[in-house]
Amino acid sequence: MEIPQVDLSALLGPTESIIIGAPVVVIWLLSGIVSAMVATNKGRSGCGWFLLGFLLGPMGLILSLAVSRNQAVLEQRMVQRGEMQYCPYCAEPIRAEAIKCRYCGEGFGGDQSSSQSLYMR
Ligand SMILES: [Zn+2]
Repeated sequence: MEIPQVDLSALLGPTESIIIGAPVVVIWLLSGIVSAMVATNKGRSGCGWFLLGFLLGPMGLILSLAVSRNQAVLEQRMVQRGEMQYCPYCAEPIRAEAIKCRYCGEGFGGDQSSSQSLYMR
């Protein structure tokens, strides 16, 4: 009587592991995606953090939340989007709307001249 029971559990074995394993894989995959999103917002490598989040699961997600921002990359992105510009006097990144540098105190009409050329058109 015991032999068919053993055979049955052996047949159910892989199926059960798939049923239990699938949500775990989804959680690990989601951790990878969220880690990549968090890291990208911090100016970090999205691909690298996706792999790290996928390998470590929720642990990778916690790491991505704890990692510091890469300020240089974030500034460069804002310059590319036109939200920031580099001061022509000290080369520090400042807001695009600024007419006076907050680092060196130099005043310049960067935004003024661009809006003037807009009216000329
Ligand atoms: Zn400056």
